[in-house]
Amino acid sequence: MGRRTVRFRCHHCLHCCTDVVALPTPIDVIRLVEATGRPPHEFVEFLGPDDLSDVDADDPTWLRIGDRRYIMALRRDAKKGCVFLDRKRAKCTVYDARPILCRLFPFKLQETRDGAFRGFALHQDVGCPRHQDGVVATEPLYALYREDCRHQDDYESLVRVFNRRARAGTRPEEFLTLFYEEVRSG
Ligand code: SF4
Ligand code: SF4
Repeated sequence: MGRRTVRFRCHHCLHCCTDVVALPTPIDVIRLVEATGRPPHEFVEFLGPDDLSDVDADDPTWLRIGDRRYIMALRRDAKKGCVFLDRKRAKCTVYDARPILCRLFPFKLQETRDGAFRGFALHQDVGCPRHQDGVVATEPLYALYREDCRHQDDYESLVRVFNRRARAGTRPEEFLTLFYEEVRSG
């Protein structure tokens, strides 16, 4: 086991819920549907390369329809932020069901050269003020990280199926139908 703690406390500046695009996996979306009772199209949108300049063109989560590409994101208003943010109370309204990437923010995994767990650091490039006046246990973060890796693998498999089937006229929203069918079929 690597370092057991990382120094950090969130001061609720709201940057990550306002200025950062939240990218859920299909499992995150299903959890949010169950928690809110809302259909996914009410809180999910599909963004293109102009909205996601940080995402590499060869990222395996791009849905590809002809020469266009899209990634599934939580709906967001440029001023108000994430669809699930309550700005007045500075609070995530789906806190217990929020996407795993939101839970891992602003932590970055550190590994040894041979891939063993070393700890977590505060990510340099995400705009979080990185207050270090708190202590966060790394073991639960690492468990979340590994869970997210499994979910990402499933996500990428579903994207490959979608991209194989996509034809002119296919809409990116049809990806929601695809993964719900997969869940129903077990
Ligand atoms: S789901 Fe919650 S934690 Fe994640 S960006 Fe939206 S408001 Fe923030
Ligand atoms: S950017 Fe950092 S300090 Fe601000 S709300 Fe997000 S995690 Fe908390």
